[in-house]
Amino acid sequence: MALTGLDIFKLLPKTNCKKCGMPTCLAFAMQLAQKRAKLEDCPSASEEAKETLSAAASPPMQQVKFGSGDNEVQIGQETVMFRHEEKFYSPTVIAVSVLDNLSGDDLKKRIESVNALQFERVGQKIGVKAVAVINDSGQSGAFADVAATVSESSDLALILCSDSPDSIAAALAKTAQSRPLIASAKDDTAEAMAKIAKENNCPIVAKAGSIDELADLTEKIKMHGVEEIVLQLEGLSLADELQALTRMRVLALKKMFRPLGYPTLSVVGAGDSDQQTATATSLTCKYGGIVIVETVEPYALLPVLTVGMNIFSDPQKPIQVESKLYEIGEPDKNSPVIFTTNFSLTYYTVESDVEAARVPAYILVVDTEGTSVLTAYSGDKLNEKVVADAMAKHDVANKVKHQKLIIPGYVAVMSGKLEESVGWEIMVGPRESSMLPKYLQEVWK
Ligand code: SF4
Repeated sequence: MALTGLDIFKLLPKTNCKKCGMPTCLAFAMQLAQKRAKLEDCPSASEEAKETLSAAASPPMQQVKFGSGDNEVQIGQETVMFRHEEKFYSPTVIAVSVLDNLSGDDLKKRIESVNALQFERVGQKIGVKAVAVINDSGQSGAFADVAATVSESSDLALILCSDSPDSIAAALAKTAQSRPLIASAKDDTAEAMAKIAKENNCPIVAKAGSIDELADLTEKIKMHGVEEIVLQLEGLSLADELQALTRMRVLALKKMFRPLGYPTLSVVGAGDSDQQTATATSLTCKYGGIVIVETVEPYALLPVLTVGMNIFSDPQKPIQVESKLYEIGEPDKNSPVIFTTNFSLTYYTVESDVEAARVPAYILVVDTEGTSVLTAYSGDKLNEKVVADAMAKHDVANKVKHQKLIIPGYVAVMSGKLEESVGWEIMVGPRESSMLPKYLQEVWK
């Protein structure tokens, strides 16, 4: 059970010395209970307090890493049930399966298709992060060969999927340097699989049909010295799996039940791509650490990755673009200058509408801490000084020979002060960015 603030308070010196940065020991205890402070911040904590609290303070969910170098991925180490409570830390890893009965050109094409599943959205790169090689043939030799080919031909992290310890050992003999994730150990193979995982320093997946069985299995694997474990439920419908994943998360995070304090892996069954999108998206939302899909259709995976990107962004930090002068097309000294804010969605909407206008232009992005135009204006993060400073910083005056600045229609009220501040003619643009093409083509001269 997690310690409450009062439990922790009883272990503290109660001198209210403030060295931890908190006004009282009780305030510090409350912060510790919410995992917003570290015990090391209290220099006077007793050895007893350190011992008792260190066990309770260790993360409720183990971090697991696999892959190597730049392609290493990490899952786990989550601390909350809901994103708004703090944030989710480790984005769901979307993996695509490659069957070991493929060979030659078919295998090559499949790997190329998986490698190509990388996208850019609102200035951020998102994509598939792992390849899951499936021992569909049941042959250890074929499995090892395909795993080796995938490891050589893809920069993505590797997951070796077989219930056979012999197949896993054969594949690891050729791929251990890439530190794959071993999937999976079951009750009857736990000892053999754990031994292989330990020898090769690889994380391992524990697979069972129920939460209780999984809890027993992780204890068994841990007894063999493997700390990095991933949980997989098998044989459940999507509804039952989502329910079980939620229960496991509650037990791990709220009840500090250590045998379930690990990230999870789910496999989306083969089916049409739309169905796989829906299933993978549901599992990304609650609470898939790794989700393996079969489809390589970009249209099916982009929505899943987009949902993951949104859920795993920090709710307290809006997604921002760099504040600078952007060139759309090949603007010259006569091109219009439009300003907007550095909230990603605002910028990319304006950018695509300016592109649609086919009028080369400059977009001056001012730093409003990632807020949209109206929010920034209401919070005084967008005013004539902020715009004037941005114009000076990015040398806008020397980019064009006219002195006209197009401002968003929603902040038309700024025009008077802005004109005085920068000395340019202020042109009030449309309220909606979607009207920019018409505006640039008909109003801007
Ligand atoms: Fe209390 Fe320790 Fe903070 Fe001092 S540093 S106020 S003793 S918790």
